[in-house]
Amino acid sequence: MNRDAKPTHTAIVDAIRRAARQEQFLEVVSAAEARRRFEARLDRAPLAGESLPLAAALSRVIAADVIAPIDTPPFDRANVDGFALRAADTLSAGPGTPKRLTLNREVIACGVAPALEVASGTATAIATGGVIPRGADAVVMIEHTELIEDAAPAIDVHRAVTSGQFISYAGSDIARGETLLRRGIRIGSREIGMLAACGMTSVEVVRRPRVAVLSTGDELVQPGQPLRPGGVYDSNGAIIAAAVAEAGGEAVPFGAVADDQTALERAMRAALASCDMVVLSGGTSKGAGDLSHQVVSRLGSPGILVHGVALKPGKPLCLAMIGKTPLIVLPGFPTSAIFTFHAFVAPLIRARAGLPVEAAHAVAARVPVRIPSELGREEFVLVSLVGADDGLIAFPTGKGSGAVTAFSQADGFFAIDALASALDADSQVEVTLIGKSEHAPDLVIMGSHDIALDVVVGALAERGVRARTIAVGSLGGVSAASRGECDIAPVHLVDAASGVYNKHLLAPGLALVPGWRRMQGFVFRPGDARFEGCSAEVALQAALADPAILMVNRNAGSGTRVLIDSLLRGAKPPGYANQPRSHNAVTAAIAQNRADWGVAIAPVANLYGLGFLPIAPEHYDFLVVEARRRRPAVQAFIEVLRDEATRDRIRALGMEPAAQESI
Ligand code: AMP
Ligand code: MG
Repeated sequence: MNRDAKPTHTAIVDAIRRAARQEQFLEVVSAAEARRRFEARLDRAPLAGESLPLAAALSRVIAADVIAPIDTPPFDRANVDGFALRAADTLSAGPGTPKRLTLNREVIACGVAPALEVASGTATAIATGGVIPRGADAVVMIEHTELIEDAAPAIDVHRAVTSGQFISYAGSDIARGETLLRRGIRIGSREIGMLAACGMTSVEVVRRPRVAVLSTGDELVQPGQPLRPGGVYDSNGAIIAAAVAEAGGEAVPFGAVADDQTALERAMRAALASCDMVVLSGGTSKGAGDLSHQVVSRLGSPGILVHGVALKPGKPLCLAMIGKTPLIVLPGFPTSAIFTFHAFVAPLIRARAGLPVEAAHAVAARVPVRIPSELGREEFVLVSLVGADDGLIAFPTGKGSGAVTAFSQADGFFAIDALASALDADSQVEVTLIGKSEHAPDLVIMGSHDIALDVVVGALAERGVRARTIAVGSLGGVSAASRGECDIAPVHLVDAASGVYNKHLLAPGLALVPGWRRMQGFVFRPGDARFEGCSAEVALQAALADPAILMVNRNAGSGTRVLIDSLLRGAKPPGYANQPRSHNAVTAAIAQNRADWGVAIAPVANLYGLGFLPIAPEHYDFLVVEARRRRPAVQAFIEVLRDEATRDRIRALGMEPAAQESI
């Protein structure tokens, strides 16, 4: 549609009809059935091997077992500087009773073949790494001998040695004929060292599967380009390409293609012609008219095997085979895309790349909150893990499948059965870890997030303290702190009755540590003559007087909402029902002309270049769980708050750090 011309009535009705079309899945199947159908058609054998020079083989996968062609060390070798001798000759040697041995007339340096035999009563000087001469069965360290410089040079040995002492025998490190490296091993620096130690210059590795990575969406903008109105960056392309490489594949980036059947078909055919596998994300959701699926259905046989899986996230997944090439359409939503990639695509890439099946690592954890779930779909919930006295606690990351960070910041996930309509609070679950290890943080911070908190977390990181912040809002932080599920809860809630911040949240077992002050103000677009140059009070009166002026509110429970309601004194101006959850969302709505005014903190208004009329400072403080206060990480947190360098950095963000003695 031409964006500039006004659409005709018929054109707009047509467009609405297209947009409102329901998802049309061929047949929604279970995850297990989807996997069965796909795997029945797949060739999972590793691709053929290719020979690579060692210098180019890092992180590649060994194609066939490597058998050691030589012994390492290749000969019996001295481990110290000293004298090669017969252990039996030193039998009664001690500090006061040295044994004298005549020296043979050679010195065995590294890389020199010995010429003389070590006979009984003699010894030969030898350097570390030298070849043990015939007749010798041990080496005495030079420190335990004394040189006797007579006509016939000799040594006094002050310590008895045992047979074999300070000798590395041939093949003791690597024995000729033994399996040095097994197929399926990913080559790291250690493996390169082992191959070089055997004199090898090249190694047979599995060819990496070439995986085409495509995105589709009219809204997609490549990173590096300016973001146009309504545009979003193509993050799927980047994360999937990197995940392909992690799984042992070679990502072939095809960029983002517009939501246009012809263009998409052309790109997919080019991808199929040049790659071992094709992964496309987007064009799958309700309203998109299932563009990707329509194009895939034209590409060749056997075609689509699965379209629609009873999974959340991931329902629109489409699995197809075009000839012998697997083609997978992932949902566009970033979390759904990467989740289904790991469930259905990564194992296939690993198999073709010659890597073994990745064992799932799971831990038991308690989920402290109730989670409603859709009946009929197996639901995966991404969680952050924190340690508590009674074991691990799993907190849902709480971001929807549209979030980019939900997967990246999660420690793992657990499943809610398709037949359950909810998971009860305090249920025990099995959390499958993402990545191998479970990194328990040193400090858990749960509550309201603030950009200056990042400064504190950064300062902690420099001191080696790993803090995990989980943004659950002030109220969420208060409950986590009172349940002892976190160390520190950042809060900024005003007591409506007294107008005092945060003190009313104190309860037995909790202490309040002052944080910083953030100026709240009336935010508007610069140049808006209705507000420019006014005080906040006058601007508010102007806003309330004109029904054409639209506000943007805040979510109930937020400190800012309490402030807004006290300013409005019961009035509910247009836009009151629009209640986003953050300062950023408020300022974005005003900057993008979706609202004319709202209340937010000064630093965020500045980030968006908006007009700002100060109202009152808001106190952002920390509830500290007393029982954990003595922990070194909590102490470090409090020290960092007092540190002048940190306080300067907080000031630079437009906040005023509080005096540390008072609240
Ligand atoms: P779709 O499956 O195309 O309907 O997309 C569903 C949602 O995911 C929309 O909000 C898209 O903007 C978003 N999305 C689709 N592809 C990408 C991508 N490559 N990167 C980031 N977001 C995407
Ligand atoms: Mg799309």
